[in-house]
Formats: sequence, C-alpha cells, structure tokens
Amino acid sequence: MKYLQTKALVLRSRPFAEMDRLLTLLTWDEGKISAKAPGARRVKSKLAAAVEVFTCGSFLLYRGRTIFTVSQAQVEVSFREQMVHVENYARGQYFAELTERLIPEGEPNPGVFEHLLAAWSSLQEWQGDRELLTRFFELRLLLLLGFQPHCENCLFCGDLQGPFYWSAAAGGLFCERCRPARQPGVSLSRGSHAILRAMQRVSLREMKNLRAPQGQQRELADFIRQFIQYWTETGSLKSLAFMREHGDP
Ligand SMILES: [Zn+2]
Repeated sequence: MKYLQTKALVLRSRPFAEMDRLLTLLTWDEGKISAKAPGARRVKSKLAAAVEVFTCGSFLLYRGRTIFTVSQAQVEVSFREQMVHVENYARGQYFAELTERLIPEGEPNPGVFEHLLAAWSSLQEWQGDRELLTRFFELRLLLLLGFQPHCENCLFCGDLQGPFYWSAAAGGLFCERCRPARQPGVSLSRGSHAILRAMQRVSLREMKNLRAPQGQQRELADFIRQFIQYWTETGSLKSLAFMREHGDP
C-alpha cells in the first residue's frame, strides 16, 4: 500500500529545504517514522498547523523509498497553547525527545502513543507535583518499552524493608547486607523507595495525590536518569538540560 492513513503525534518538526518541514512522527499504525511535509512553511499551507510539535493529528502519508511524504494532515488536538508556559514547554519537549530516542523505528506501540498523549494533555491542568509527573512519565515509558528497573526489593535476597542502595549497572536495588563491596551504590531512602513502588502501581490520574520532599525528588530523578543512561542508548538530551533549567531536579 502506497498510502498510510493514520493518527500521529508530532515528536519533532524542523525546517527543511526552502519551504518544507522534516517531521518525526509517532504513528498509531507504524510507530516512529520520518516524514517530509512539502511547503509546510508557506504562509497559506494547509499542512502548517498539523505539522507542529505537540500536535495529535490525522495524517495521510505517501510511502516513499526512504521517507514518507505528508499528503494531507488535520489537527485532532493541539497542545501548543498550554506549551506557551515555559515549564510546560520544557517538560512537553522532554517527553517527546525521550520517546523519540527510546522507541525503535517502525514498530507500532499503542501503549506508548496513549502514554505520551495523556502526559502532554495533563500538563495544562496538572494539580499535582510536576516533578513526580515527569518521573512517572519516564518510569512508565521504560516499562512500556521493556526496560524495567528492579525497584521492589533487594535484587539478591528479596528484602523489602531497606534501607536500599542502587547501582545503575546492577539495574536495581540491593539491601545493606547484599551491597557489593566493589560497587557500593548510592543510597535510596525508605521514602523514595515507597514513592518508586507506588509509581509502578498507580495510574496517571492517581499520581495527582503523590507528593515528595526535595531530597526524595533528587534521589528519584538520579535513580531513573542513571538507569536510562546506563541501559538505553538515548545519549544526552537537549530537552533534559532545558527542563532542569526550569525547575526539574
Ligand atoms: Zn539483600
């Protein structure tokens, strides 16, 4: 089939050639793909609105030999308005970039699609803790893509009480007794451990009730980010640095 009709989230949109845009789309049917949007930077282009980042749109795509070309595109939901707030923008960009780096090309993953869509849309009226929302996004995204940090108990003896230490290389936690001498690890307080476990069980909506003091925020951010760095191939993310300038630990 030469044409693909699908719903897609615009993860990235950058100027290309004279008047075009080059997109990274997360499509419902074929996962992550690259697509060219011809003429999308012209003032009167019908594609212009739907090919901006933070958009969920309906796309008709022509399948070329190396890249898709956008034939038609309509906005279904745009999250651009809520992204005018710089902190939302920073988090929304980070969600998109992390997804783009972690998800393999051309493999549909409806769970990841729904997760990113829900995270973008919740940024606007989020009454809960935004740092924890971000940790939840990271942790659930990892899970949906088959990466699972071992957070329940000690990797070696199964101890549930803690206090715990963790090492990115070990992929999880160990208790005081099992803590390897050559890899002493970083400590994880009981409070942070409880939040980590809760985040693995709850839904996005239930996250609104979770809170954590600054020290635990820091521990959780370090734990998840170092896991991502060690176990995945995301490299350094521009949006992560930007988000940290705007308040993320
Ligand atoms: Zn142990």
